[in-house]
Amino acid sequence: MDGACQGGDIRLLGARVVVESDPERMVQLLVGLPEVNVLGVVEGRSLEVHVECRRSRPGCPECGVAAHLKEQRVVTLVDLPCFGKPTRLVWHKRRWRCPDRDCPNGSWTECDDRIASARLALTDRAGRWATVEVGRFGRSVNEVAEVLGCDWHTVNDAVLAYGEALVDHPDRFAAVQALGLDEVLFVRAGLYRRQHFSTSIVDVGRGQLLDVVPGRRGAEPKAWLASQGPEWLGSVEVATLDLSGTYRAVFDATVPHAARVADPFHVVKLANEKLDECRRRVQNETLGHRGRKHDPLYRCRRLLTKADERLEEHGRSKLLGLLRAGDPKGEVATAWHAKETVRELYCHDDAALALSFVDRLADDMVDPVQPIEVRSLGRTLRRWRLEIAAWHDWHVSNGPTEAMNNLIKRVKRVAFGFTNFANYRIRALLYAGRPDWSLLGSVTPR
Ligand SMILES: [Zn+2]
Repeated sequence: MDGACQGGDIRLLGARVVVESDPERMVQLLVGLPEVNVLGVVEGRSLEVHVECRRSRPGCPECGVAAHLKEQRVVTLVDLPCFGKPTRLVWHKRRWRCPDRDCPNGSWTECDDRIASARLALTDRAGRWATVEVGRFGRSVNEVAEVLGCDWHTVNDAVLAYGEALVDHPDRFAAVQALGLDEVLFVRAGLYRRQHFSTSIVDVGRGQLLDVVPGRRGAEPKAWLASQGPEWLGSVEVATLDLSGTYRAVFDATVPHAARVADPFHVVKLANEKLDECRRRVQNETLGHRGRKHDPLYRCRRLLTKADERLEEHGRSKLLGLLRAGDPKGEVATAWHAKETVRELYCHDDAALALSFVDRLADDMVDPVQPIEVRSLGRTLRRWRLEIAAWHDWHVSNGPTEAMNNLIKRVKRVAFGFTNFANYRIRALLYAGRPDWSLLGSVTPR
């Protein structure tokens, strides 16, 4: 220490500031772990901080006799980077044995969960930090592993251990008024890149992803809902549907008392899909090939699915011009009008009015003069007329399902896709499941 620090205080901008100047204590403060002695630091590509626990000789947990030291072993843990350098905590752990030959306890190694969980290769603080970076801020495991200077598995194991404890915390499941089920593509795997789906279980009112279960056949979400218990299921007033009969059957079995509402997001999405199908068919019929860069119908594909009110005057006249050029029978234009009329449905306030609107719309659409895609849309609207109109009684917002899908997509994009369902589930729930992050400090890693 130079002269300025003598006496434990320094002058800073004219004021006296008390500082710690005892070298041993300074090191302990910098290392910041409870009840450890810092044995030394090794400087290499990463910083190695050697520590041992300060606690005195323990008694045997079985019989209470003072333990004997058997041996010391060294455990190297990945710690938070220190002053910009990857850091390793080298823990000199003592192994104790019971001196009483009749005691069944034998020997044991000291442990301290405040430093590190026995099963993880990260220190406790590094594990919690990695969980926040990956789970809350949506960074990739690779990126975080790079900052810590360790491999992907080390970080992923920690995210799973802390993340699972956080997302399975019972406080995350409050009573749900509006419940939604939604299929989400989980992965394309195998030789033929077969699609594997998952089902998102969503609190539509609060916009919270409750859980993700594998498959879209209904058995898994049914089992999940059943396991929530009758009281929780009883509080569900509205069940929102994505126009799939499978999920309707799940709701019939689990929440028969709840009102059925077709999610506007999925209704509009279907209308857009039918419009897209129609555009591709007409493209093929008129030009005999799939859309190319200069084909009028290909050029207007984005303008078609955009909401009409979001098209500016220029976009609108461009769209009409391209349709005149590429859509001789006006079929794509018809499908476009159909889509816009479906969207208009949600401008009504009144459920009875909306029902008659759906009925008239469906009647128009199934007319044989309509393009085949519009007729198909009309049949679906007819099949779901009550659920579509019921939205006007409940006004369950359209946003949450869409927002949830976007969050899940972001998680998948950051990870470049998932192949392991447990990883996918934890990451999606940490990011879109609204866990209480203030609890992270107190949960015990699994
Ligand atoms: Zn003993």
